[in-house]
Amino acid sequence: MTHLWWARRDLRLHDNPALIDAQADGPAAAVFAWTPALHFWSGRRRAHLARTLWSLRDSTGGALAVRRGEAADVVLAAAQEADAGVVLAAREFSPAGVAQQEAVAAALEAEGRELRFVGSPYAVAPGRVTKGDGTPYRVFTPFRDAWRQHGWRQPADAADPRGFVPLDSDVDLDQHAAHGDAEDPLLEPHEFREQRVLDALESWIDDALIHYDDERDRPDLDSTSRLSVPLAFGQVHPRTVLALTAPKRSDGSRVFESEIAWRDFHADTLWHEPQARRESLSRVMLEEDWVTGREADQAFVAWRDGRTGFPLVDAGMRQLAQTGWMHNRVRMVVASFLIKDLRIPWQRGADHFRRTLVDYDHAQNQLNWQWVAGTGRDASPFFRIFNPEAQLDRHDPQRRYVQRWVPELDTPDYPGPMVDHKAERETTLALHRRAKDRG
Ligand SMILES: Cc1cc2nc3c(=O)[nH]c(=O)nc-3n(C[C@H](O)[C@H](O)[C@H](O)COP(=O)(O)OP(=O)(O)OC[C@H]3O[C@@H](n4cnc5c(N)ncnc54)[C@H](O)[C@@H]3O)c2cc1C
Repeated sequence: MTHLWWARRDLRLHDNPALIDAQADGPAAAVFAWTPALHFWSGRRRAHLARTLWSLRDSTGGALAVRRGEAADVVLAAAQEADAGVVLAAREFSPAGVAQQEAVAAALEAEGRELRFVGSPYAVAPGRVTKGDGTPYRVFTPFRDAWRQHGWRQPADAADPRGFVPLDSDVDLDQHAAHGDAEDPLLEPHEFREQRVLDALESWIDDALIHYDDERDRPDLDSTSRLSVPLAFGQVHPRTVLALTAPKRSDGSRVFESEIAWRDFHADTLWHEPQARRESLSRVMLEEDWVTGREADQAFVAWRDGRTGFPLVDAGMRQLAQTGWMHNRVRMVVASFLIKDLRIPWQRGADHFRRTLVDYDHAQNQLNWQWVAGTGRDASPFFRIFNPEAQLDRHDPQRRYVQRWVPELDTPDYPGPMVDHKAERETTLALHRRAKDRG
């Protein structure tokens, strides 16, 4: 009997255990649900998804079906058509992913079919790494140590690109890519072909991994892996990444592994605390002390458009607008500036990142914002307020990064600082103390 692979955030043929299992008894059918929710995605992310699906379908000899509709309807119809009693898929852990897979499982079950989960988008799935008493870790370092001890499997074999039963599609991927590009253009598209992503990863490991511990905080050197986009779409699995980096055994590879552990830590936090998607996990300021109304709107627009007068903040926001990606150090600086200099709640910044990042990932984005805001699990303390000038001196010493993204920097067209950082810092800390005193 044919099995059906339900493609989700795992758009790859390599190291894909759900797909391997779907092909275990012969050629598999494969379907991706182009759901109505995708119309709320930014144009840039939708265009990237369309290209990634186009490439994956190409790799399956055109067999992968991409169909419009809610996942439960699309997967059920494809299972009926392929006469598949078993549907294989990677398990999701975000609130939306869980709701979706529950609906699919119920629709299949009503007809005597089964949704079987194999694997997840993580090295170690959320909920697996716990303290001795079974409760989740709240602090990252012991989580990471237990995560390393738990370990992960070796990558699975590559799926057979000829091992597919073709199903028809009803989504025009070329058109979606073209529309997304037209409505929300980027300087250049991100890589969307699986093999090129893997080749780029191997070159990066050869050239840059060894310097990762020293250079990862330097936006001017641009020497990080750029894996966040392929990881967000599942074009590569973290297990594959770790299998390639771990044998290198350098400080670079240890620090890099730690960053992959942060990815699993944030997913674990959201799994245990789904309210973290919108709500702060702890309070850092009184509700009435956040800036609101017209003043907040004007400040937000200056931040969004990269016109704050702080070169590192502006460079980051422009890199984001033009490329759909921003260096991690700069993400921390711009987020700190919005929350602690402008006193705008983190949720508004997180929403802007959702609209502009191509690597947008619900767990990573919301929990990283909470980390900077000092409201998450094992977050940066609220009193740690990044000084955007000192960060610039330290991490972009020759000002190459800021000059690249803010070409008018040293001309009269560039605005002066929109706030006095030192004064805002004092005010914010005083308001924080007030909130703490109130308990
Ligand atoms: C406010 C804010 C919002 C963010 N939003 C997102 C998001 O929506 N999607 C996203 O993938 N990352 C997000 N990050 C984390 C991080 O900035 C990016 O993963 C990283 O910059 C991607 O570049 P890279 O792949 O070259 O990273 P590298 O430095 O090469 O790291 C390798 C991988 O490790 C993981 N990683 C690195 N740093 C972090 C981190 N702080 N938290 C979790 N995982 C990490 C990522 O999967 C990354 O691809 C956010 C960080 C901040 C401060």
